[in-house]
Amino acid sequence: MKDLPKQQWHHLAEEDVYNALKTDHQTGLTSSEVSERLSIFGENAISAQKPISPFKRFILQFHNPLIYILLVATLVTFFLKEYIDSAVIFGVVIINAIIGYLQEAKAEDAINSLKRMMSASASVIRDGKKVSIEATQLVPGDLVLLASGDKVPADMRLVKCRDMQIDESALTGESVAVQKECTLLEQDTVLGDRVNMAFAGTLVTYGGGMGIVTATGDDTETGKIADMISQAVSLDTPLTQKIHAFSKILLYVILGLAVITFAVGLLHGQDWVSTFMAAVALAVAAIPEGLPAVVTITLAIGVRRMALRNAIVRKLPAVETLGSTTIICSDKTGTLTENQMTVQKIFAGDQEYDLSGSGYQPEGEIKNGQGETLADLPEGLRLCLLAGTISNDSQLLQENGLWKVQGDPTEGALIASAVKAGLAQEEQMQAYPRLDVIPFESDRQYMATLHQFDAEQNIIFLKGSLEQTLIRCRDALDQQGNSLALDRDKITQTAERFAAMGLRVLCIAMQKVPKDEQTFERFQQQEAAEQLTFIGLQAMIDPPRAEAIRAVNTCQKAGIAVKMITGDHALTARAIAEQIGINNPDPSADQHRVLTGKELAELSDHELLAEVEKVSVFARVAPEQKLKLVTALQAKKHVVAMTGDGVNDAPALKKADIGVAMGIAGTEVSKEAADMILTDDNFATIEGAVEEGRNVFDNLLKFITWILPTNMGQGMVIMVAILIGASLPVLPVQALWLNMTTAVFLGLMLAFEPREPGIMKRMPRDPNSPILSKEMVGRILSVSTLLLIGAFGLFKWALINGETEEVARTLAVTLFVVVQSVFLFNCRSLSVSLFKTPIFSNPWIWGGVGAMLVAQLLFIYTPVMNTLFQSAPLELAHWGMMLAYGVLVLFLVEIEKGIWRGIKARRSA
Ligand code: ADP
Ligand code: MG
Repeated sequence: MKDLPKQQWHHLAEEDVYNALKTDHQTGLTSSEVSERLSIFGENAISAQKPISPFKRFILQFHNPLIYILLVATLVTFFLKEYIDSAVIFGVVIINAIIGYLQEAKAEDAINSLKRMMSASASVIRDGKKVSIEATQLVPGDLVLLASGDKVPADMRLVKCRDMQIDESALTGESVAVQKECTLLEQDTVLGDRVNMAFAGTLVTYGGGMGIVTATGDDTETGKIADMISQAVSLDTPLTQKIHAFSKILLYVILGLAVITFAVGLLHGQDWVSTFMAAVALAVAAIPEGLPAVVTITLAIGVRRMALRNAIVRKLPAVETLGSTTIICSDKTGTLTENQMTVQKIFAGDQEYDLSGSGYQPEGEIKNGQGETLADLPEGLRLCLLAGTISNDSQLLQENGLWKVQGDPTEGALIASAVKAGLAQEEQMQAYPRLDVIPFESDRQYMATLHQFDAEQNIIFLKGSLEQTLIRCRDALDQQGNSLALDRDKITQTAERFAAMGLRVLCIAMQKVPKDEQTFERFQQQEAAEQLTFIGLQAMIDPPRAEAIRAVNTCQKAGIAVKMITGDHALTARAIAEQIGINNPDPSADQHRVLTGKELAELSDHELLAEVEKVSVFARVAPEQKLKLVTALQAKKHVVAMTGDGVNDAPALKKADIGVAMGIAGTEVSKEAADMILTDDNFATIEGAVEEGRNVFDNLLKFITWILPTNMGQGMVIMVAILIGASLPVLPVQALWLNMTTAVFLGLMLAFEPREPGIMKRMPRDPNSPILSKEMVGRILSVSTLLLIGAFGLFKWALINGETEEVARTLAVTLFVVVQSVFLFNCRSLSVSLFKTPIFSNPWIWGGVGAMLVAQLLFIYTPVMNTLFQSAPLELAHWGMMLAYGVLVLFLVEIEKGIWRGIKARRSA
């Protein structure tokens, strides 16, 4: 197999497809064939295209109004023969572009690497065995099994289809799912009508089947569409958009002021060159250049921190939205519970049994109601266990001595319970070969299999929820396996007794059918009829996760309501909710209330709005109803996080403010729809992500509160100087120096601030509230004013005392550095006292201040810098004055923070 013949795969008969691809019908490819083909065709991955070339990205850094001003300034100073100034300004433009470039690339890398962390898997038949492999390892000729919820991993010709529907909108733009058939098609059938093919990247939304891979990687139809692949990561979030809008307004305001400055300067009779430079100084000083970059970096750091805590963010805005989440709607099974199920109770043949043992270990005993170990296996019990273990798509595997389930934990428990009575799954499956299956779907709440039984008959086993199984039953089995009248009340009461203990109850039934009945066709025609014989109940424990209990508690203290949404029985759900401590925040709500899917369906939209906040547990909910719940909660102005794992959860995940998918148990479809993926399927991870989200927002606010005074202060100093006709306390090049060094060495370090201890003790942030509160605006204005007084005062004082202009300016610039270094510590918490914040909890701050000090010493004391920036050496007494002023600012801000704490305490009292 050197090269793949260019085939019209849809126009080939199945037999010819197998032959062309040299694949065995039953056993698929062998490992040696696979490795040979891998070396020919390469990995099944679409070669990543660089979204923007590095050169273009670098050039884009210059696309910024401030840079235009600076470039004009470079030219003007050059023609005025101020070569040093011209070179410095130009140098700064270049350095600025390099920093911007690096920061952007780093942020993008951080997010791109997350994408790679979630690799898709594929289910294939190789060497005659069904195995799960990484999708990148697929080769042409592989037999791939597809099931609802899968993302098609490569292009393939379908050879088995069972009610299979595929959403091909990613490829064709057509949003209605395509019904797939294994028929032979005409040669000229267009892509969208090739119903016997499945294409890479499309989503199986219903049913399932099998296909033979015909193309991988770049050879797939998706791979051929170049522009679809360059999925550049968007670094936009609501906040960055607000900041961009704000920066734009600010820019116009500042440019307006610069023009006024220019005019005023000329009116004062100054020459136009120095007036022009003053206007440039104002523009350079007052525009917060560092703001957008630091915001993006802070978000990227948040993404990384969340990843370390097992939450993979797929869409950047989620980082921000997480911090304002007010409701988390979570699945029960597997997210709030361990997903480690063990059958503890069985009711079969009108008898109750107790099972011992834990996990999926094959050790344990079955005792009857009198606590006696069973001498022999009654037929009623045997059928109950048999049905559980063979009407089953999962297996138990031993890994390092520990038994684990491959597949569905619910089914794993049923295999383990059968082993305890000596019924091994593999043996039983061979004894009763399977003929057909109706797979489990949450909507349907049951699964059924058809097996050969004996010489005369086949048998249907059905297992599912009590409600959906019992309505299909007409009689029951006794101990000996003989027919018994169906006592619905007794069965229901028994099941409810189990459920109230927090057990997950599965109901099992059967039907013997004639030998010629080989498929579920007849069964499905009379689906709802009472045709089955009730065999028994198996009830399994699924204990709550200890960390979920803690996380729920934390959320509830943080003003985030937790709601459980499950397909399980109302009583099981209630019992688990109580064990976990899920409470409704509304004191008037009935804490024991459970709303079932059926009740939910009967509520009008209006009634639902009145009820939705008051109920914390929703049971027997169909996935489609999750969408209704999210919509109602959002209508109540909630920011909703919603978990989901199935295909049908996708609409709710998309609609939710934060759609959360499960990394382990989730389908590809749900992951595709989600904003965030939990690599450990654990509720506690959502809570952790909320913490990080709040922290990201805190740190952004801290940074904004810190950076704006630098710019406002400088702007005010320059404006005042011009208005009163004094010489400039800060030159344009000096303003550039100040803005660049302080933003990188000082401000950026706030992005590394750890979470404040009280972060989960306050209410969620209202996403519609303005970014800056009155308190923050007040602080920014007062610190700006303090900077104005300090810098201008020191500048004037120096001139009056006969110092040179160079020294006076160096003093003004260094005062900014000193005050901003000090204010950085004030900003480590916006409300908590600096004296209560652990001094060394953010080592970056100290590193940054150290680096800033070194840079500033170079600025002041080295002749090169003195020439470049027109600075001059300072004396020790100068330092004394600046430090004293810094300490003054430190305490003034802390006093101001204290006053605000007092106001808030009084308000909440
Ligand atoms: P959840 O995951 O929220 O607990 P599911 O939709 O998975 O809810 O399950 C709903 C009900 O369907 C369960 O209470 C159980 O009775 C039944 N059920 C769950 N898994 C299976 C399965 N693999 N086969 C048959 N029935 C199942
Ligand atoms: Mg489930």
